[in-house]
Amino acid sequence: MFALPATIRRIQVLLPLPLAGAYDYAVPEGLDVRPGQYVRVPLGNRYLIGVAWEGQPGDVPETRLKPIEAALDLPFLPETSRRFIDWVAAYTLSPPGAVLKMALSVPEALEPVKAQPAYSWREMEGLKATPARLRIKEVLQGGPPRSVGEIAKEAGVGTGAVRDLIKLGALAEAPMMPPRLFQLPDAHRAGPVLSADQTLAAKQLCLDQAYAVSLLDGVTGSGKTEVYFEAIAKALQRGRQVLVLLPEIALSAQWLERFRARFGAAPAVWHSEITPARRRDTWRAVAQGEARVVVGARSALFLPYPDLGLIVVDEEHDQAFKQEEGVIYHARDMAVVRAHLGGIPCLLATATPSLETSANVQQGRYRRLHLPERHGAAQLPEIRRIDMRKYPPRRNAWLSEPLVQALDACLKAGEQSLLFLNRRGYAPLTLCRACGFRFQCPNCTAWMVEHRAGRKLVCHHCGHSLPPPEVCPSCGEKETLVALGPGVERLAEEAMARFPQARVEVMASDLMESPRAITELVGRMERHEIDILIGTQMVAKGHHFPQLTLVGVVDADLGLEGGDLRAAEKSFQLLWQVAGRAGRAEKPGRVLLQTWQPDHPVMAALASGNIDCFLEAEAQERKKAGMPPFGRLAGIIVSSPDSAVTARAAHALAYAAPRQAGVEVLGPAPAPLALLRGRHRARLLVKAAPGVKMQTYLRTWLAAVPLAKQVRLQVDIDPVSFF
Ligand code: ADP
Ligand code: ZN
Repeated sequence: MFALPATIRRIQVLLPLPLAGAYDYAVPEGLDVRPGQYVRVPLGNRYLIGVAWEGQPGDVPETRLKPIEAALDLPFLPETSRRFIDWVAAYTLSPPGAVLKMALSVPEALEPVKAQPAYSWREMEGLKATPARLRIKEVLQGGPPRSVGEIAKEAGVGTGAVRDLIKLGALAEAPMMPPRLFQLPDAHRAGPVLSADQTLAAKQLCLDQAYAVSLLDGVTGSGKTEVYFEAIAKALQRGRQVLVLLPEIALSAQWLERFRARFGAAPAVWHSEITPARRRDTWRAVAQGEARVVVGARSALFLPYPDLGLIVVDEEHDQAFKQEEGVIYHARDMAVVRAHLGGIPCLLATATPSLETSANVQQGRYRRLHLPERHGAAQLPEIRRIDMRKYPPRRNAWLSEPLVQALDACLKAGEQSLLFLNRRGYAPLTLCRACGFRFQCPNCTAWMVEHRAGRKLVCHHCGHSLPPPEVCPSCGEKETLVALGPGVERLAEEAMARFPQARVEVMASDLMESPRAITELVGRMERHEIDILIGTQMVAKGHHFPQLTLVGVVDADLGLEGGDLRAAEKSFQLLWQVAGRAGRAEKPGRVLLQTWQPDHPVMAALASGNIDCFLEAEAQERKKAGMPPFGRLAGIIVSSPDSAVTARAAHALAYAAPRQAGVEVLGPAPAPLALLRGRHRARLLVKAAPGVKMQTYLRTWLAAVPLAKQVRLQVDIDPVSFF
C-alpha cells in the first residue's frame, strides 16, 4: 500500500456492479491515474477491478477515502466506450456499473497474461538417444520454441520425459512468440464483379467516413452481403476495425465461410457459445486492435474497440437484437448510438426493414440504398395462399391437400422442400380426455410442451420439465392423455408417413446440441442429403440452399395471435424471410401459405410481394394510434414472488404517476405471462408523444415511490415484446 500525500488527489472509479454511480478513490503518490485506466481498488473486504472515470469526485471525508491499490498495465478503456457506457445507462435507466459489467464481461482478460516458459533444443555431447528424446528433438527442430505441455503433446511423450531433458540441459529456455490468434483479413482481395445496383450501393457506402446511417434494403439473395463486404474492405484499407452484428451468430457458419473466402482469414467471433479461453483472448485482441473484424451477437457492441471504423447490423429488423434481461436494450438502436459517438458510419441491412428504420428513412435521418432484384438468374418466389377453410387437413394432420401435392411434385422433380412451423417440440399442449386436465407449468403462465425426441414435457419459459406422464395426475386414468396441436416433431411424423421414401429432417434449437450440429445439418441440406427439411424460425434466417424450391408455411396465422402491437409486422418479416429461402439459384421457387384468414392484410401483402405497401399501411395504423415509431413507449414490469404484493406495488406505482401533458400511463394489468419463473408480474405501459423526455419523466416518477424489498422493477424503454 502507498502512503497518501498531504493533499489527496481524488478520482472517480466505476465498478462493474449495479451501484448508483462511480465511487471516489484516492490516487496514491507516485501513481498517475487517468480516466479509462483499469485500476484495482478495495471495496468492503475485497479487491475489484474498475475503470477510472471522468466526472467530479464527490466529498467523501478523507478519513473514509480509500486509495487505489494498483493501476493495471492494459490499454485504456477508450473514451468512446466510456461515453457509450454512460449513454446506454442513461437511456435504459440502468446503473452505469451494470453497463460496464457488459463491457468487462471477461474479468480474466484483465489479469496479467501468464507467460509459459518455452524451450528449444540444444545439442549435447553424450546424451543417450531414446526414442522419446529423438521425437522431442525432431519436434523442436522443426518449429518454434514451445511449452512443456505442447512439446509433450506434439512428440506424443509424457511431460516427465520433457522435464528430464530440461534438467539435463538439453532443452534451453527461449523466448516464446505469442501466437497471433487472429489473422489479418486481406483488405485488397477482389470480390465478385458487382451488378449496376450493387456497385452504386457499394460506392456510396465506401465514401462514408463520418457518422451516417444507411439502410441497405434488398430482397433476399440480392447481394446485400457482397455489398457490405465492399464497405468492410474499405474500412480495413483505412486501417480501422469493423463490427458486424448478426442475430443468432451460432447459425451463421455459412456467413463465416463466405467471409473467409472473401478476405482470406476468419473474423473474430463473439457470442455466448464460445469457450471462456477464447472469450478472454478475443477480448484482449479487440482491446489491442489485433482483431480487425468482429462478428458477433448484440453483446459484441460493448467490446473495447480502440479504433472502430464501421458497424454493420445485418437483419436489422430481427427481434433477437433486443436484450430482454438485465440491461434491457436494443442492439440495433445502440449500434447507431455507438456509431454516432464514434463519428463512424453504420449500415443496417435487411430484406424487411423495421417500421422504426423505415420511418427514419422517410424523415431523412437515414439514407436508403435499394437492391430491387435477386442476383443473376434467380427470381423471387411466387407466394400463394392456401385457404384452409376450403382444404381442411384430415384429423390429427396439418398438411392440406394442395401442399401435399406440391411436396409430391417437388420430390418427383428431385428438388428440396422446406416446411416451416414456428413451434418446437411434438405438441404444444397435453390434455386428459377423461377429465379435461391440462399440463401447466407450476412457475409460469404457460402450457408444458411435449418433446417426444427428448422424452419429456418442458416449459419453454423456465425450462421446468417432467418425464412423459402415463396416467392423468388429476383423475388417475390411464391412456387418456392426448397431444393437442402440432410442433415440428409431430409434423415430421406426418411428413414421413406421407412420404416414406423421402429423407426428412427437423431443425429446431432444442434438437441441435451445438453450433457444430447445426453446421452439419446445414451441410447435409446443401449437399442434397435431405429432401424435406422441417424447421422453426431457426431455418428462416440467412441460409442459402440452391436446390430448395418449395417452402410450405404450415400455420401462417400463428404469429398473429396475441394482439401484440407488432404482431403483423413481425409475422410479415418472419414469413417473408422464410419465403426468401425458396428458389435462390436457377430454379424458380414457390411458397405456399396455409392460412385460415387469407384476407388478412399480412397474407394479402405476402401474396402480392409488395413490402413498401405493407409498411405504409402499418405506418398509417401506428400513426393514428400514436404508437412507435410515431410516439414513444416504455414498459414497466413489477414482479414479486407474491401476487398480492405485486398487485399492491403496481397500483401504488400507477397512483403516483405524475400528470404531464403528452404522457399517458396505462395499467397496471397482469402481464400476459402473469407468472414467470415463480414471480407474479404486472405491467404498466407509459405512452408518450414525440418530444416528451421519457427518461426524465420515468426517473422522477420511479424515484418517488418506495417499494417493498421483494418487489422488482424492470424498465423496458422502446419495448418490442409484451410478455
Ligand atoms: P443477400 O445478403 O441479399 O441475401 P447474398 O449477398 O447472400 O444476398 O447473395 C446471394 C447469392 O448471390 C450469394 O451466393 C452471393 O455470393 C451471390 N452473389 C450476389 N452478388 C453477386 C455478384 N455480384 N457476383 C457473384 N455472385 C453474387
Ligand atoms: Zn415455466
